[in-house]
Amino acid sequence: MERLQKVIAQAGITSRRKAESLILAGRVKVNGEVVKTLGTKVGERATIEVDDVPITKEAPVYYVLYKPRKVISAVKDDKDRKVVTDFIDEEEARIYPVGRLDYDTSGLIILTNDGEFSNLMMHPKSKIKKTYIAKIKGKPSRETLKQLAKGVQLEDGKTLPAKVSFKSGNKQNDTSIIELVITEGRNHQVRRMLEAVGHPVLKLKREQYGLLTLETMQPGDYRPLKPIEVSRLR
Ligand code: URA
Repeated sequence: MERLQKVIAQAGITSRRKAESLILAGRVKVNGEVVKTLGTKVGERATIEVDDVPITKEAPVYYVLYKPRKVISAVKDDKDRKVVTDFIDEEEARIYPVGRLDYDTSGLIILTNDGEFSNLMMHPKSKIKKTYIAKIKGKPSRETLKQLAKGVQLEDGKTLPAKVSFKSGNKQNDTSIIELVITEGRNHQVRRMLEAVGHPVLKLKREQYGLLTLETMQPGDYRPLKPIEVSRLR
């Protein structure tokens, strides 16, 4: 038995809080009857309807994928390019990526069918640390590295403090490798931050997401998350 708001949230329709509002507003039916009590326990086989539309419950599944470059972080693409869910063989559940990596960014991405988990991961309050390795044009000065760490003014506001480390430089082709740990997840954030300080990104990879790392995975590899990893991320 699970709490009604949790089951609705897990179906990916909405967050748990919004599910509570739906229940209180009398928009949720369990086995054909309106239920307005929060925390009502529902069994595996209960039929749950929101606004008279049945929700389908699937057992929650979680995967980590090493997304290669040139893959879309979506479940389908109108130009028929490869999408992240194409990599997960034999999964019947309707999984989708938690957030996005750019088409040209490689690295760690989580796939799930658990809407509540996904909302939680992407909520600005979650402050999950995401580690990126960027190959950039030029060699950033110490000042520039400090500026990146303190926050960069972007068109959608200043970025939160980040951890920035210089890894290596290549004088011959005037490029550098830096590591950035950020807790936000704005669109193209790393590329925009580095562009803003005059060091466009040439290559980008996400190495870590919270406690998850790529370890020995190769591009295109995936594995299910262990229950302990899921609960630690929450
Ligand atoms: N920041 C970016 O600019 N791109 C990504 O794919 C992820 C973070």
